[in-house]
Amino acid sequence: MDHLITLLNNSQNVFVATHAVPDGDAIGSLIAMSLVLVGRQKQVTLYNESPIPAVYRFLPLVHHVTAHLESVDIYDTAVILDCGDLPRIGDAASLVSRIPEVINIDHHITNTRFGTCQLIDVQACACTEILWRLFKKMGVEFTRDIATCIYTGILTDTGSFRFSNTSQTTFEICENMVACGVDPYQVAQCVYGTYSLGRIKLLNLALDSIEISENGKVSLMTMTCEMLAETGTQPEDADGLINYARRIQDVKMAVMIQEQLNGCAGRKNGYGQRHPYHVSLRSDGSVDVAAIAASFGGGGHRSAAGFSLESTLPEIKERILRIAESVA
Ligand code: 5GP
Ligand code: MN
Repeated sequence: MDHLITLLNNSQNVFVATHAVPDGDAIGSLIAMSLVLVGRQKQVTLYNESPIPAVYRFLPLVHHVTAHLESVDIYDTAVILDCGDLPRIGDAASLVSRIPEVINIDHHITNTRFGTCQLIDVQACACTEILWRLFKKMGVEFTRDIATCIYTGILTDTGSFRFSNTSQTTFEICENMVACGVDPYQVAQCVYGTYSLGRIKLLNLALDSIEISENGKVSLMTMTCEMLAETGTQPEDADGLINYARRIQDVKMAVMIQEQLNGCAGRKNGYGQRHPYHVSLRSDGSVDVAAIAASFGGGGHRSAAGFSLESTLPEIKERILRIAESVA
């Protein structure tokens, strides 16, 4: 960690990025790191390839996040957050690997240890937990804004303190962040309390699509471009819907197959442009979904992982149902 702090202290022009199709932890990490660097008079570019989901637009600096990167020559340092591998940031990956120092801060078990400096803690419930520890060591003053980003990352990556990555430390950090001015009710209202009507209608279609494997251990949810068009929603509105499939009694693994918009609406999907499907996996902890995702070229955590692939819907379903047969 000392080497990383030296690199940050010596940096002048920093490229900060997180994974495409960002979640609360990715955005919380991106903004928290950027606030700290800006506070230390660094030049900072906040990068994300995808649009910031509406529910996270209450966070500071989100309007500074850009998806444009023409040249990397001006940067001496890159900080890549919440990414198991560099291509997760999207098209910019090949350019970013030319930046002299690439710092990789992450909590995914499948992290490839890319970059010139790594800070990886697979026990951390969120990338913002790692940042909290780093910032304490750096002597950062936790302003309300920084604390809100850290809290948002933890709240969303623990599924509101319900997932198995929730620990005593999780609550200790959150208590600390609330002491620094975070308003848990306000964050919860922004993140979970303000769904568009379209998103609720999309939930209806998603629930209707659920299929269960013969042995009852695997649930399958399908999300097509047509469903998004019908409800006037964006891919970000599908975030979290898989948890309904996971909650079903006796289900050990939930799968959501999501058709990618680049095939039908000309938008980047962020998981690899050429792949028409993204598959999300969730388990109750008894099935190692990171290993399953890795076998398809993806990655993630033991209970939450994903991959994208070039295939057809019936073929993906068949492959998943074949895996389902071996789920005990
Ligand atoms: P989700 O299914 O919500 O997109 O992702 C679940 C977890 O798996 C997240 O931690 C995410 O970073 C990881 N993940 C999802 N898709 C991919 C992928 O294509 N490659 C890798 N390495 N990780 C992924
Ligand atoms: Mn994360």
